[in-house]
Amino acid sequence: MLEIARDVSLQHLNTFFLPARAEYFACIEQPEQLLLLSEWLDVEQQPLLVLGGGSNLVLADRVPGMVAKIEIKGWQLASEYAGRVRLRVGAGENWHATVERALHEGLYGLENLALIPGTVGAAPVQNIGAYGVEFKDRAHAVQVYDHVERCFKWLLSDECRFGYRDSLFKTGMPNRYIITAVEFDLDREPNPVLDYGGLRQAVPTGEVTPQHVFEAVCRTRRDKLPDPSELGNVGSFFQNPIVGIETHQRLLSEFPNLVSFPEGQGQWKLAAGWLIEQCGLKGVCEGQVGTYARQALVMVNLGGARRKDIVCFAARVQQAVRDKFGVVLVPEPRFYPD
Ligand code: FAD
Ligand code: NAP
Repeated sequence: MLEIARDVSLQHLNTFFLPARAEYFACIEQPEQLLLLSEWLDVEQQPLLVLGGGSNLVLADRVPGMVAKIEIKGWQLASEYAGRVRLRVGAGENWHATVERALHEGLYGLENLALIPGTVGAAPVQNIGAYGVEFKDRAHAVQVYDHVERCFKWLLSDECRFGYRDSLFKTGMPNRYIITAVEFDLDREPNPVLDYGGLRQAVPTGEVTPQHVFEAVCRTRRDKLPDPSELGNVGSFFQNPIVGIETHQRLLSEFPNLVSFPEGQGQWKLAAGWLIEQCGLKGVCEGQVGTYARQALVMVNLGGARRKDIVCFAARVQQAVRDKFGVVLVPEPRFYPD
């Protein structure tokens, strides 16, 4: 059975707290309900937005068509061999709770991804990443409902076209697949990843455990990022731009303090937050919207902002960065409807 409600407020279902309303709304708790949803969409000819925790979305006041909130639960050790554990988790599980539970059960590899808001099912969409680890590094496969073939199937990690904050689900075929579960390959033997920025300095000296990494990441994030339950935001508002060697050389000669990292194949990643800060736009606000005082890359809703206010302020930030550096900032969250 599928219960469909009409004219539902999404304000508390998106971490920007934008006052959006869905024309139709349904909660999906069982994968089989997706078959009913698919039929309903065919008959009613309505567009679909798949919703997780709403932490990477910028919603308009009116969201046309159906919003389906994925609440499929599940946690299962699928197999274990030679210290490697295959863990299957439902798409509607909370991401951070999953990281925490894995750690407590002695399944290692997700610690660097602690405290990222949202659901397990959304993690493959932009191949979430933080502190030197990406979702794809620990993913074995993603289970989807395929709207085109009208069936459930597993896509192996290699088939998901994971890239830097990107995947098949984000830019390849954004409306084709609904993710219902994820399989991780995790380790019984700890192997902490500490190469990122100041992470090594944030853990105790001596033997470093996954618990140390988890705590250091949580501490650093709490210090630097706004808690969406207190201040509306969607994390990084812009992607870190990837530029070629010529642009990188030009920028370095003009701005010797440029913060950048090699991305391989002659490409460089620029820290978007640094670019914005250099334009004097860190901790600046305009009406109900601003950049966060401790991380310029995070845009915050100071209370009562609507999508149009965010679009307007984002354009100001983009213009300033383009004028100073000749670099185009591309938003990271999805704008819905486009
Ligand atoms: P939503 O915002 O609900 O949806 C995001 C996109 O995924 C939408 O296009 C939606 O349609 C699609 N989607 C959601 N669920 C499914 C599904 N089951 N099947 C198919 N499509 C689906 N991101 C990082 O990468 N690294 C970070 O460190 C990070 N830190 C953050 C910190 C803060 C404070 C905040 C607010 C955000 C942060 N983010 C980060 C962004 C965000 O949390 C992630 O992108 C997260 O994975 C989004 O999950 P969600 O469930 O909220 O997705
Ligand atoms: P930060 O540590 O101040 O670093 C700024 C930028 O430099 C980051 O974007 C990061 O790129 C890059 N960087 C730093 N050290 C690096 C290294 N050793 N190798 C390659 N790149 C390096 O960033 P922050 O804002 O506090 O965020 C910390 C981590 O959490 C980052 O990984 C960031 O992506 C993640 N985060 C993501 C979001 C989001 O919404 N997407 C929100 C908050 C935090 P990367 O971003 O590629 O790592």
